[in-house]
Amino acid sequence: MSKVIDTDICVIGGGSGGLSVAAGASQMGAKTVLIEKGLMGGDCLNYGCVPSKAILAAGHAAHAQAHSDAFGVAGVTPQVDWSKVRDHVKGVIAAIAPHDSVERFEGLGVTVIQEHGRFTGPRQVQAGDTTINAKYVVVATGSSAFVPPIEGLEDTPYWTNETIFDNGDPVDHLIVVGGGPIGLEMAQAHRRLGAKVTVIEMLRAFGKDDPEAAELVLTRLRGEGMDIREGTALKSVAKTDAGGIAATVEKDGKSEVIEGSHLLIAVGRRANLDGLDLEKAGIAYERTGITVDEHLKTSNRRVFAIGDVAGGYQFTHMAGYDAGIVIRQALFKMFWAKVDHSAVPWVTFTDPELAHVGMTEADAEKKLGRGNFQVLRWSFAENDRAQAEHQTDGLVKAIVNKKGVAIGCTIAGAHAGELILPWVMAVQQKQKMGQIAGIIAPYPTLSEVTKRTAGSYFTPSLFSDRTKKVVGRLMRWFS
Ligand SMILES: Cc1cc2nc3c(=O)[nH]c(=O)nc-3n(C[C@H](O)[C@H](O)[C@H](O)COP(=O)(O)OP(=O)(O)OC[C@H]3O[C@@H](n4cnc5c(N)ncnc54)[C@H](O)[C@@H]3O)c2cc1C
Repeated sequence: MSKVIDTDICVIGGGSGGLSVAAGASQMGAKTVLIEKGLMGGDCLNYGCVPSKAILAAGHAAHAQAHSDAFGVAGVTPQVDWSKVRDHVKGVIAAIAPHDSVERFEGLGVTVIQEHGRFTGPRQVQAGDTTINAKYVVVATGSSAFVPPIEGLEDTPYWTNETIFDNGDPVDHLIVVGGGPIGLEMAQAHRRLGAKVTVIEMLRAFGKDDPEAAELVLTRLRGEGMDIREGTALKSVAKTDAGGIAATVEKDGKSEVIEGSHLLIAVGRRANLDGLDLEKAGIAYERTGITVDEHLKTSNRRVFAIGDVAGGYQFTHMAGYDAGIVIRQALFKMFWAKVDHSAVPWVTFTDPELAHVGMTEADAEKKLGRGNFQVLRWSFAENDRAQAEHQTDGLVKAIVNKKGVAIGCTIAGAHAGELILPWVMAVQQKQKMGQIAGIIAPYPTLSEVTKRTAGSYFTPSLFSDRTKKVVGRLMRWFS
């Protein structure tokens, strides 16, 4: 039987962004409808962040068993049970799922409709038999793996992020197409679990990150036996008679066939726009996503678009951040609330990790010009904790402007994802190096690298001849 609901806020998509809006809005007293056509929790919980970090953790556990010799503990060859690895991954999802569940959201007062949502008017959405008239609509439909038109792909079995985590069988040789964060995280996880891995990247692996820091990580990944082919184009794929995969690649005009057992496509993301009938609500969009302004408003002033579908920074923390911007406007009428992308962090959770915020050296060169900024470097080899744990492959690279204010930072190294946080605060709050160098960092922690990096800003003036003269004079006067 058809039903009509009048509501304050209608959210389409129950992933990181949509759930944040729905939870916030209903707890603040707004009548809220949430429409989700698939699994609650969206990509992050079911096919993205959570399972990828869980399988990486399994890979790291196997790696630790095999590489304990440096500590005087004989390494052993790990016995990997792939079906149990899958159980572990699914178990982690299951442990988090109640937080994103229909039951929890209904308990918060949200009306959850498990259907496909589509616009039927500027403020009207249809979900199954239900028509929703809303004061505001928030589109949070996310993104899916972009599968390029590769010759032979239609007749060749392949994985995307939506299917790889269902595997419970041994992987002999994984061919990964795409050398971005998703491809490289999956590549390392599978390598550490015992698979041979080949990564095919048309341009540069970790193409969005600082090349120097990226190279540090890539050297380690290659050292673990991953075959990472940069500047290499995938021309075609085919299923072999033995049931494997034959990938034809080309580099510098030379063609080669790589044979593997499994294929993962991880070349980028595509905004989920299909079947939304955006035209019926006058919402402008492009191939990359729904067009939004700095307030996350679409061309329909009563409709916001957030998270991956808005085509900006496609991270869970950004979908959550976007949700806050929308809530401030829709609920508290703070129409001036807008996004600030000056301090957006991101992390690739390989080992070592690669974390970034603000400007890279290349960004600073382009925006400020050489001579108008400084690059401060600090090696993990100078850190006592890193030495104790054999984690000395690491680099902090901070970018500061002429006034000594933090404008960016990249960290490659153990726990870089945790270590980046003080730099996120520093960039966001425009902190000077003196403020960071002046903190007391507990010893021995990796966190000391932040203090030492900031401190290095003062090294040239602190240990100069001028300082020596001043100190000499003071010592004489007060003797
Ligand atoms: C393998 C992988 C690893 C990742 N790792 C990280 C990480 O470590 N850290 C990080 O920050 N980010 C990571 N990401 C990115 C992160 O998952 C996304 O940025 C995040 O999920 C985006 O949230 P969202 O709310 O925009 O979309 P989603 O979480 O994708 O949610 C969108 C929801 O909308 C639903 N939907 C779509 N269309 C409709 C419709 N018409 N009607 C009803 N429902 C609809 C979908 O079913 C889906 O549930 C990873 C992504 C992948 C693929």
